[in-house]
Amino acid sequence: MKFFYLSTISDENGNFQIHEKECPNLPDALDRDYLGPFNNGKEALRRALSLNENASLCDTCCEKKSKLSLIKLKEL
Ligand SMILES: [Zn+2]
Repeated sequence: MKFFYLSTISDENGNFQIHEKECPNLPDALDRDYLGPFNNGKEALRRALSLNENASLCDTCCEKKSKLSLIKLKEL
């Protein structure tokens, strides 16, 4: 399990990025919400989307291989 956080500040595309605890791009404590422990970014995204429909995975710390953006579109 890894610990995931959701940024409370949008990026240049209007998305709120999800980060692992170890990510170098993790926002400061005041600028993030704790999502909880998840097996992978996809599970964290599912949780984050229930809080913020503009949540998206960070390219740096979350896997890019699977078509996560497509999954997100289907769920919206
Ligand atoms: Zn990240």
